[in-house]
Amino acid sequence: MANSTLMTMLCSAAVVLTATGAAPEHFQPRAKELLADSIELEKNAHCLNVVYFTGNDMQPTAEADRRISELLLYLQQFYGKEMQRNGFGKHSFGLSLTDCGNVDICYIKGKQPHKSYAYGTGHDACIAEVEAWFKANPGKKKSTHTFIIMPTWQDEGYSDKNPGGVPFYGYGRYCFALDYTDFDIRHLGQKTPEGRLLTKWYGGFAHELGHGMNLPHNNGTVDVNKALGTPLMGSGNYTFGMSPTYLTHSSCAILSNTEIFVPAGSTHQFYSIDHEPAVHHVEFMRKGDMLELYLEVSTDVAHINAYVQDPPYAVNQDYEAVAFSCTMGTRNGKRVAGVVIPLYELGNLENKDSGELGLDILIQTYEGSRFRWRIPFDLSKQAAGTPIETGKPTFMRGY
Ligand code: ZN
Repeated sequence: MANSTLMTMLCSAAVVLTATGAAPEHFQPRAKELLADSIELEKNAHCLNVVYFTGNDMQPTAEADRRISELLLYLQQFYGKEMQRNGFGKHSFGLSLTDCGNVDICYIKGKQPHKSYAYGTGHDACIAEVEAWFKANPGKKKSTHTFIIMPTWQDEGYSDKNPGGVPFYGYGRYCFALDYTDFDIRHLGQKTPEGRLLTKWYGGFAHELGHGMNLPHNNGTVDVNKALGTPLMGSGNYTFGMSPTYLTHSSCAILSNTEIFVPAGSTHQFYSIDHEPAVHHVEFMRKGDMLELYLEVSTDVAHINAYVQDPPYAVNQDYEAVAFSCTMGTRNGKRVAGVVIPLYELGNLENKDSGELGLDILIQTYEGSRFRWRIPFDLSKQAAGTPIETGKPTFMRGY
């Protein structure tokens, strides 16, 4: 009884502290230190579903609740600060918290042994069980974005020192990451084996969560990389916590129209449209050392990004795609978008001078859907000042 009264008091105190932006009382000192300069984020309309999933023969790793909460709250601040720096306000992904200030994590025990939920093959079985659990616990599903964390396997191949075995990737609006004993924010930035291991798996955790929140891979421009380091959705999963890592403006533009980033009061029905946005007009041109892109599109378009990359375009071959954000406006009842791409900002793309490059135009609507149109071109065959042939838009969805 006394313990429960004490716990209630601790929880009440934590709630007050959380409201002022500081870390909950029971967080470890290093977490409190890292969260000390937290910004007060805008309230969200929808929250990320956080699931801790184990096979029927596994348990969550010790202190998962505190460790994962600290890691997620720090990451929420990282995304929020990057959104603010890029001019999108103090918006981050929403997290539902318990009275104690921990993240409200859904602990779900699978119906099968852990080996049934393996890397590369186990995600569909896991998702089916998670969705069945949400159906049985309807109040727990806060959005269509779900982050699933599984503890590392412990066998001849994997252990707490060499975690793995479980799914670790984005998969539509689901994303998967893993947990292990030293997956603890107190190791962040430490030049120790635990610190290096944390960067690998926490950087991956942050990056895969980006995929689960609609983000594709991208690289920054030469100038921005020089100023800010490595983009999280490029190779920033290897630098996060160790050296400067950032979100590109293009990534933040997508997040600003993502279900779990929009502010309280938003009434958009996310991912609900079944038609492509109309492209009324497009101009793509080389002018000296620059490319110019101009589009007129339908009014349901919120934002347009342009990515330039070398082929091949296959999954995970696009880390080097240099991202540019269009400036958006409205004219005569149409959305207009334009961007200038200085060629030197493309850095060392192999085919920059000669050979095929792909311009990907990513169109995002206000209700979050993304449509990608790829235009191949070759600068060595393109006289300056002449339009580059774009053809008619052919969209790939969900990118
Ligand atoms: Zn990735």
